Amino acid sequence: MAPGNRSGFTLVELVVVVVVIGILAAIAIPKFSNLSEQAETQSCRHNMRNLASALQMYYGSTGNYPHTNEGRRWRKFSAIEEYLQNWEQLECPSCGTHYRYRITGRNYDTFRIRGWNRNCRRNHGMYRNGMPTW
Ligand SMILES: [Zn+2]
Repeated sequence: MAPGNRSGFTLVELVVVVVVIGILAAIAIPKFSNLSEQAETQSCRHNMRNLASALQMYYGSTGNYPHTNEGRRWRKFSAIEEYLQNWEQLECPSCGTHYRYRITGRNYDTFRIRGWNRNCRRNHGMYRNGMPTW
């Protein structure tokens, strides 16, 4: 090293390091956000599976689905809260809305479940004829 040279980084070296860090971040951040999106999808579908099995348990113990005599309108799960623990915590993690169900079929013998938010239905699916659409 020539006498008088200061040790340390030159401006060019610092710029190169900053650019490299920027490129790495640009690659990593979309991957992480994709991961959390997948986690929300899985969690939402898990919620709907729990709600579906609650409806099936209701069917198992009463012989019919809840409120079949009140028609085929969409209902909140609060209507069957005695069959569901923590139903109020079951909401879509990305949309923050609760789910609703509707009893369908000619003999009211099947059900639908969906998140109350359109984004949830589009991104996470729903139950139709008692079966998940995903
Ligand atoms: Zn959802």
